[in-house]
Amino acid sequence: MNETDLHPATRVAQAMGRIDQATRAVIAPIHVSTTFIRDPDNQYSSGFVYGRPDNATVREAEAVLAMLEAAPAGALLFGSGMAAAIAVFAVLNAGDHVLAPRIMYWALRHWLMTELPRRGIAVDFVAMDDPAAVAAAVLPGRTRLIWIETPGNPLWTITDIAAIAGIAHAAGARLAVDATVASPYHLQPLALGADFVMHAATKILNGHSDVVAGVVAGARDDADWQRIVTARRLGGAILGPFEAFLLMRGMRTLFLRAAAQAANAAALAARLAAHDHVAHVLYPGLPDHPGHAIAAAQMRDGFGSMLSIRVRGGAAHAIATAAAVRVWHRATSLGGVESLIEHRASIEGEGTPCPDDLLRLSVGIEHVEDLYADLDRALRAASG
Ligand code: PLP
Repeated sequence: MNETDLHPATRVAQAMGRIDQATRAVIAPIHVSTTFIRDPDNQYSSGFVYGRPDNATVREAEAVLAMLEAAPAGALLFGSGMAAAIAVFAVLNAGDHVLAPRIMYWALRHWLMTELPRRGIAVDFVAMDDPAAVAAAVLPGRTRLIWIETPGNPLWTITDIAAIAGIAHAAGARLAVDATVASPYHLQPLALGADFVMHAATKILNGHSDVVAGVVAGARDDADWQRIVTARRLGGAILGPFEAFLLMRGMRTLFLRAAAQAANAAALAARLAAHDHVAHVLYPGLPDHPGHAIAAAQMRDGFGSMLSIRVRGGAAHAIATAAAVRVWHRATSLGGVESLIEHRASIEGEGTPCPDDLLRLSVGIEHVEDLYADLDRALRAASG
């Protein structure tokens, strides 16, 4: 049997079968050297020269990520999700135009609004769940990149990747997808026509809330991809070897964790939808979610581990609910094995499209009855 015939779950569990040749260690060592011996004939036959452009431990994790995304150009690891996202915008020149979603990770939206205009790049924010609106917002000859996030923070808005890829490519633009929330367990954007897929590997890819990392994978090794490669090499944004090692350790269990977390999230979403103190549950797995049909078609094995609830009684009750939990952790971030709850509007601040009665839930691997009982008690305490 060829290694490439194996299921990705098998390949990631074994870190693609890498065995350290010097020691026969099952777990590869962490390569920390920043510099490498030049050969007497003036070559670098090992392929390694210096630690900023390249690192063997980082390469091992990148090979796994490229496999998970089925990315012909490969994958590049960065020091954070934001660094990875920003590197994609290196494909642009002054005068170009970008389309981005109205509902997206708030820090990147802030960066797009403040930094792109300084570089002479225009950006418009559109409803990415409305392909006709996206097509109408394209500026012929100027739109070079469409950025989407699906499911999109914090309403879990679903974007039809194939439809938006068609619009982008007809306009001569590229499509980049922030697929952090879905992870490659549920979604492979490149197979649906995207040119780039990006993740905050800080989240479910690593899964243990102990590494900040980001990744970009590409559909084609072309001039645009080389601009991203160069942005990382010269900008010095590569992930550190210790973080790459931890990420690799986390990714070995991605398939187990993502399956368990999605099952917990689906069960909680269904039960919370019937809760007296919950006005609305936002989860793409629920049939009443506006993106449910598209999510069902383009995602696999479930709908991810993120959901939001809108609490009856408004912001005060939402904040009081978050204050009353004992099992859930009141913290930002997502994708870890421990469940987190957050009053999202408080962290996004002024100008956020996030309703102020919304609590964002990142569902972990704890027992679902403990998670539900804690939320139920907190919701009742907050309104009582
Ligand atoms: N994209 C999404 C969807 C995120 O949730 C985050 C972080 O919360 C990022 C990007 C940025 O990742 P990082 O915090 O690793 O820079």
